Amino acid sequence: MTEPTILKVAVNVPLSRLFDYLPPDGIVAIQPGSRVLVPFGRREKIGVVMGGSDSSDLPSGKIRHCLATLDGEPLLSAEDLRLITFTSNYYHHPIGEVVAAALPAMLRQGKPLFPTLAFFAISDAGASVDVEELAKRAPRQAELLESIRDAGGNGIDIDSLTELIPTWRRAAKPLSEKGLIVRFDATANTEPPTCDVAASPGPKLNDAQCAAVAMLRNHQGFQAFLLDGVTGSGKTEVYLQVIRDVLAAERQVLILVPEIGLTPQLVSRLRQRLGIEPAVLHSRLNDADRLTAWRNARQGLAKLVVGTRSAVFTPMPDLGLIVVDEEHDQSLKQQEGLRYSARDLAIVRAKYRDVRIILGSATPTLESLRHCREGNFTQLLLPERAGGAKPPSMRLVDLNRAAAAEGLSDPLVAAIEDHIGADGQVLLFLNRRGFAPTLICAACSHIAECERCDSRLTVHARDRSLRCHHCGASEPLPEQCAECGAAVKPLGEGTERLEEALVQRFPDYRVRRIDSDSTQHKGAIEEALAAAEQGESDILIGTQMLSKGHHFPKLTLVGIINADQGLFGTDFRSGERLAQSIVQVAGRAGRESRQGVVLIQTAFPDHPFWQRLITGGYQRVANESLTEREDSRWPPFTRLALIRSAAHKQQDALAFLQRATELIQIEKPEYLRVLGPVNAPMARKAGRYRAQLLIQSGDRKSLHAVLAMLRPALEAEPTARKVRWSIDVDPIELF
Ligand code: ADP
Ligand code: ZN
Repeated sequence: MTEPTILKVAVNVPLSRLFDYLPPDGIVAIQPGSRVLVPFGRREKIGVVMGGSDSSDLPSGKIRHCLATLDGEPLLSAEDLRLITFTSNYYHHPIGEVVAAALPAMLRQGKPLFPTLAFFAISDAGASVDVEELAKRAPRQAELLESIRDAGGNGIDIDSLTELIPTWRRAAKPLSEKGLIVRFDATANTEPPTCDVAASPGPKLNDAQCAAVAMLRNHQGFQAFLLDGVTGSGKTEVYLQVIRDVLAAERQVLILVPEIGLTPQLVSRLRQRLGIEPAVLHSRLNDADRLTAWRNARQGLAKLVVGTRSAVFTPMPDLGLIVVDEEHDQSLKQQEGLRYSARDLAIVRAKYRDVRIILGSATPTLESLRHCREGNFTQLLLPERAGGAKPPSMRLVDLNRAAAAEGLSDPLVAAIEDHIGADGQVLLFLNRRGFAPTLICAACSHIAECERCDSRLTVHARDRSLRCHHCGASEPLPEQCAECGAAVKPLGEGTERLEEALVQRFPDYRVRRIDSDSTQHKGAIEEALAAAEQGESDILIGTQMLSKGHHFPKLTLVGIINADQGLFGTDFRSGERLAQSIVQVAGRAGRESRQGVVLIQTAFPDHPFWQRLITGGYQRVANESLTEREDSRWPPFTRLALIRSAAHKQQDALAFLQRATELIQIEKPEYLRVLGPVNAPMARKAGRYRAQLLIQSGDRKSLHAVLAMLRPALEAEPTARKVRWSIDVDPIELF
């Protein structure tokens, strides 16, 4: 009799190892990629088989059997497992947690790939009810009946119903009792969504676009391309051309985007131009819809998958192309838990799969630009706006010379009047929500601070509160100073204050603020963006949210209210970031026939950063930053890993990292520089003290060798029990 194979199982626990199990009684082997139910300590957990082996470190009598297998065929292919394993090794993150991150919630919880869901459908009696009549007596019942009727013969599952009418349950009872609706269980929809629009042709590509497409078509196997094109240069048209080729060859395409809620235009453009319905994967989907999209991708039914960062793990058996749009965007990097870069993993995936990957941006990261210089990536340039639109002209407004009341200088006010007078639209960019970033006492200069964080509280006027933007704490807005009792006043400008000032100054203009406070309910962002696109607002006020990829046809003036914070940032990436956000928001101006104007208000007009940006644009900022980074040995010329710890006592946070330093020194790593431990720039957040240790290396291998030793050692470290800690490989924020 053959011995059963020992299964190496990934279990969702924070330990960097696989666990050994035997197959369930009566089963000889289980294929990698399948889920199993395993006894874990005194509990049961869901695990994923990563491989098999005929040996174990455990004595054979100690190895427990799996309780059950959950999948008839593996959920994840060998290629999916390879990417997951790479992710765990590269980011030094527990394999079980990586597997969990790669699976939709319902699969993680052990539900079947084709789960049974509860549905409601209308009965014959319900179909003939006069809804208007019912609405007079029972408006909620009428609303629910109508929603269920609109769903048609297949009915509507309760997750979707909850999204439409969160309080449906109460109205459902009388409707069921009267026999107007029926509840039943059924397998989730297995049909991929169909598209009701036919593919429409796009513009004739210009020379630069044609050249880019030709280069892309020249390669079939793995190659990374940086599509480096100014805003409005027609990058999306280039993607579309290549996507069409790949779809015509019956292969699947994966498109990663920073945030889908902020780029509804891209999804509708894909639908219209390709005539197929993209499977969309993002964080605001309900669990059932997410599973459906994931499953359709895995079955090869969804040809085009558009998703945010975690979509990089979506199984796609026929994957033929990956596109990463806005590759510079920070939201492609997960900043908590499993800290991974979806862009970097997408490149690895393309390499494993031996297919092309296109990274697109008007403001590429220095990492990608360096890869182009070194010949690892092919750079495709689109230097001009497509369709003849001119690039926006950028000018500084010197705040030392021009009076500015509530953030608005005279030259900016005059320009706003000009542009709106000429039937244009204006976008004012201020990356600070709330009314004012500071509340200060007029007498003693005391500043209101968060009790749990080292930070100031932001004044919110609308709901008269003081809020901490770091921990979420909120308290009523005081009228008097907590220290001396004198009157307090808000200092500085946030988007709310700017809105108020504009409404007062321009009572006839339609002013619209778009930030995370003004767009909290579902669909609010989409609605606000659509209204802005249709020209229903004269002045838009926005945070970072408004800088991404939008196309507002009438927009001709962009005002940057306050860019100076970024000039003196402590992070070595501050300059790159500032240039990216200004160029991206400037790129919203003048995308059609009228040239755009960008006014940047600054109190430091002589700062060298401005000269670089105004005279040479992003390219010059990037080139000079690359030289500086090379001289000062920062990424992309070196590699970083940041170890963070947080604890209720500052001493504990530091002691843990001190221990990490000692462990690193045991290895006597030659090429490593260890900086710290030090307190984090914001030393206290949400009541915890935070410290960090930065490891810098000229050579990736030695950095990873040290981290591979460090991770399990720290997991076993007694001082770890008092802290929350993490390893961040290639961190993009150094705090
Ligand atoms: P990007 O993705 O670089 O911001 P888009 O692909 O969105 O640029 O193109 C910007 C605008 O220019 C869109 O309205 C698009 O339809 C138009 N456009 C793109 N390529 C061409 C072209 N070759 N001729 C005319 N218009 C074009
Ligand atoms: Zn706080």
